[in-house]
Amino acid sequence: MTTAQIRGHQSILEMLERALSRGRLPHALLFAGPIGVGKNRVARYLAQCLFCEQTPADQLSCCHECSSCKQMAAETHPDLLSVECPPDKAILPLSLIIGSEDKRGREGLCYEMSLRPMTGNRRIAIIDDADKMNAESANALLKTLEEPSANYLMILIASELDAILPTIRSRCQLIRFAELSAPDVSDLLLEHQLAESPDQAQQVARLSGGSLAVATQLLDENLQELRHNITRLLGQHPFRPQAFSQAVIKAVDDIGGNTAAQRKTTHWILRFCADFYHQALQSAAGYQSELNNGQIEKFVTGFPGSAEDRIEKLGSLLDRLLETEEQIDRNATISLCIECLSEDLRAIQKSAS
Ligand SMILES: [Zn+2]
Repeated sequence: MTTAQIRGHQSILEMLERALSRGRLPHALLFAGPIGVGKNRVARYLAQCLFCEQTPADQLSCCHECSSCKQMAAETHPDLLSVECPPDKAILPLSLIIGSEDKRGREGLCYEMSLRPMTGNRRIAIIDDADKMNAESANALLKTLEEPSANYLMILIASELDAILPTIRSRCQLIRFAELSAPDVSDLLLEHQLAESPDQAQQVARLSGGSLAVATQLLDENLQELRHNITRLLGQHPFRPQAFSQAVIKAVDDIGGNTAAQRKTTHWILRFCADFYHQALQSAAGYQSELNNGQIEKFVTGFPGSAEDRIEKLGSLLDRLLETEEQIDRNATISLCIECLSEDLRAIQKSAS
C-alpha cells in the first residue's frame, strides 16, 4: 500500500507525517468517522510504515520489500495485534480484550500489548469497532492506556464517537475522517473490481454517502434489480401510483418480519427515487445526465411547460420524498407512508404549473 492508494485523507496523512517527523506520534490514536471510508486502511498503512525496516522511523513511508512489509501484506506481522467485532455480534467480545474466561489476563489484546515486541521496536494494536466495546472491555483497555510505554501504539477505530467512554477519548489523539467524494468511491469500486462498469460505479458511488462499504452493499444484485424496477415505474408518464406503491411494498414485505431491515430497504428505495429526481433536475436545468439510457431525459421532457415549470415540479417531487424519509425515521407505518407518497407524487406530477 502507498499513500497514493489511500483515497481522500490527504490532510490526515500529512498530519501523521508531521507528527512522525517531530517524533511526536501519540501512544493512542482514535480514528473516528463514517463506516467504509478507509480508517482501517490508514491505520494499517501507518503500522506498516512504523514497522518497515528500510525507511526511517520519522517518515510516513515503507519499502514493500523488507520482511516486515511482507508480513504486513500477508497480515502475519507478529507485532501487529488487531481485533474487530465479528459480523454476527453487536458487542466486541470481552475475550478479545482480556482473554477467555479460563485465561483472563493471560491472553487477549491487553496482555499481548504488555509483552515486548517480537521483531520490531514496538507493538501496535488496531482496535476496530472500538465503539462496540462494553464497559468491562473499555475499562480493561483504559488500564493499558494509563500505562503508556514507549514501545506501543494503539489505534482505536470508531464510527460512533459518542459511544466511546470520555475517559478513553481523553487519552487518545482524536483524528476525524470525513466521507469520501463520489469520484473517489467510484474509482475505488473500479480499482478493486467490485463494479462491472464505470457507469455502474458512478451510479452506486453517488448513492453511497461517501462510504465504500455502503457502495459495496448497493452493488448487491437484488438491490440493483430493485433500483431498476422502482426507477422504471417512477419515470413513467402518467405516473401510476398503485403500481409504484405495490412494487415498493412488495419489496419491503419480501425482506420478512424484521422491521429494522424493512426500514433499511425502504430507505434504499427512497434514495433510489431521490437520486432519479436529482438527475432529472440536473437534466431539466441543462446539465448532462450521468445515465446514458435516455430514461431521465424522456421523463423530464414528458412534463409539459417551460424548463422553469419542470424544475419547480421536480423540486416538489423531491421535497415530498424527503418528507417520507423523515416519516420512516420517525417509525411511521411503511405501507401507509408509501401509499400516501404515491398518491401525492401523482398529484404533483399531474398538477398544472
Ligand atoms: Zn519495508
